[in-house]
Amino acid sequence: MKKPKIKKVDWYGFNHKKAVKKLGADRFCNEFTVRKNDGSPRAVYYSSNPNRSEGHKSYPMLHVDSFTDTLYVSAMDQEEIDECRWYPAIHCLHCNWIIFSIHRHHFNPCKCRSKKKRVYIDGGREYYAPRIVFGDNANFKNCEIDMLTDEIRYSEAENELLGVHGETLVALRKDKNAKRTKCTSR
Ligand SMILES: [Zn+2]
Repeated sequence: MKKPKIKKVDWYGFNHKKAVKKLGADRFCNEFTVRKNDGSPRAVYYSSNPNRSEGHKSYPMLHVDSFTDTLYVSAMDQEEIDECRWYPAIHCLHCNWIIFSIHRHHFNPCKCRSKKKRVYIDGGREYYAPRIVFGDNANFKNCEIDMLTDEIRYSEAENELLGVHGETLVALRKDKNAKRTKCTSR
């Protein structure tokens, strides 16, 4: 199988070129939620030479507060970002795309056209594990992406965890008495 592609998210629609200049950074890394239970994903940039005397750090980041529509700048150093750089994701083995959920209300499908094959991930980084929904013929693996390098790693333990959630959902959907089932694993 070819190397899978990661379905990137453009959550805020930032102009990363401009942002890199403004922040004095080297490059844009990715957009993701850096802390659990944080409703605002961050656009994360990397700076190889931060101005330490002004308190700058290696990973400046931007986010917009959706209530006040205010742009915020924050930053992390290497040790801090090392704790959150691996992000939960799903690798669809049919379309060979890797998907992740950037926000608690970001319901992200893979690229399969067939509903029976398609898999979705939802829930951002809010819960113990992201929620997934998938069709009867779906074929996928749970994995994690390094948001700073796009490296992918597969974790067997979490695979089992998500598998249970998925099977529960399918079981619920096949119950003819259940008119409508919500996709939740909580
Ligand atoms: Zn797919």
